[in-house]
Amino acid sequence: MTSVQDETGVLAGDERMLIDGELQHTSSGATFDVIHPASEEVAGQATDGTVADMERAVGAARRAFDQTDWSRDLDFRYHCLTQLHEAFERNKEHLRRVLITEVGCPVKVTGSQIESPIEEVKHWAEHGRNFEYLADNGVHETPMGPARRKIHYEPVGVVGAITPWNVPFYLNVAETIPALMAGNTVVLKPAQLTPWSGSEYGRIVAEETDIPAGVFNVVVSNANEVGAALSADPRVDMITFTGSTATGRAILAAGAPTVKKTLLELGGKSAHIVLDDADFNMALPMAALMACVMSGQSCILPSRILLPRSRYDEGIEIMKNMMENFPVGDPWDPNNMQGPQISEGQRQKVLGLIQSGIDSGARLVTGGGIPEHLPTGYYVQPTLLADVDPDSQVAQEEIFGPVLSVIPYEGDAEAIAIANNSIYGLSGEVSGGDLDRALEVAKRMRTGNVTINGKSHFGINSPFGGTKQSGLGYRNGEEGYKEYLEAKTIGMPE
Ligand code: NAD
Repeated sequence: MTSVQDETGVLAGDERMLIDGELQHTSSGATFDVIHPASEEVAGQATDGTVADMERAVGAARRAFDQTDWSRDLDFRYHCLTQLHEAFERNKEHLRRVLITEVGCPVKVTGSQIESPIEEVKHWAEHGRNFEYLADNGVHETPMGPARRKIHYEPVGVVGAITPWNVPFYLNVAETIPALMAGNTVVLKPAQLTPWSGSEYGRIVAEETDIPAGVFNVVVSNANEVGAALSADPRVDMITFTGSTATGRAILAAGAPTVKKTLLELGGKSAHIVLDDADFNMALPMAALMACVMSGQSCILPSRILLPRSRYDEGIEIMKNMMENFPVGDPWDPNNMQGPQISEGQRQKVLGLIQSGIDSGARLVTGGGIPEHLPTGYYVQPTLLADVDPDSQVAQEEIFGPVLSVIPYEGDAEAIAIANNSIYGLSGEVSGGDLDRALEVAKRMRTGNVTINGKSHFGINSPFGGTKQSGLGYRNGEEGYKEYLEAKTIGMPE
């Protein structure tokens, strides 16, 4: 079933997956529904791949790595990724409609999810072409006399990429393009709620590039076992994963018997420390906006707002005003900046966590329910909770909804202690008038990244990764490229 409406509406993606160079359905013909979260209607179908399909895909990727010269032919890889960049450009509006259809992301904020990843393909192609794969490490004295050492950076092998639903096209690209450019072969397993951002990627590779059979595969499935099979397969050398911390733990365990290299980007519960000398009228409207634009479905969202007691009421009033006037509604309408949650299950999870906050003593300042004017679609009101207990469930668990929890503090040391009171360590934010003081606070936050005064830490040229239970390893930057390479040291005569 397809339900292509008009040029700006719901668009069904390709039902098929890509295995060993062929776009195909699973052998039984089984499919599953893809729901448009703004209308709650079935937008179309995706093939429901099985563990057997995954095993074929891994076999194809293994053969392509071991038996073709993909891993050694840098010029050909550059050619293929340049083709892919151009193909994505041609398909840009199609990919945007697929994204809005399956995620419900407002059209106004799709730039970072469509234009940015397409640009990243070009970036990695250039970066990979210019990378020094054989580096001279100098001459070293050894008991056997001087030895020259060279470091050969070579691909890891077969990479399994498992992605979540919140920013699906972006993450499909971010997890696979540097891996491919570095000479690996790839099996991508997109999330159940967003199969088309993966299947369309597969279709474009098959129809519009020279990427050889088996080098890039996409296995679409509605079953977690299929991702689990990828992460346990002994023929897979590395797993790159973005998703929840719970699944990250399962993937680490599944890879343990074969000591699989594992790159994990997991959940977060980031804190925004607003210092007493901060410009509240700059920092806090932006904090409220960031909580709403992706319906709060962002891993790096600073969802805990730490306000100094001396300016507590003032800060709450600013965020309340912003949230009460935030444009929520139909994602196809360019005036809206917050769409629905991705599913009814996610909406119920968000509403449940809001209620748990209220039950544990938090004060509901605004929101807390379903917008009255939006009875259809999985919408949640922008929600502000104040006086939140930093140890309560709502302050400790990732909500993934348009919800901010405000926690008061007295003095910088207490703010840092509250911010660090989390199993997560993905991102953080500091707002303050004195930059030296703000930087000292940022340095003491136990997180992988920090934004000061709204200046984003996130970008293709800078390493991004979580600490504590938010992840292992990096995306982006030189560190991010090297994740997909092994550093082999070769000792040889001078
Ligand atoms: P999820 O962990 O439920 O699922 C992610 C993927 O893992 C899906 O493709 C799923 O099919 C697959 N999967 C599920 N069980 C598996 C298993 N046992 N073995 C292997 N694969 C399995 O996450 P989600 O709900 O899709 O995404 C939301 C989560 O992603 C949030 O926690 C969010 O913070 C996180 N996230 C993190 C980042 C980051 O960069 N750190 C970015 C985006 C999202």
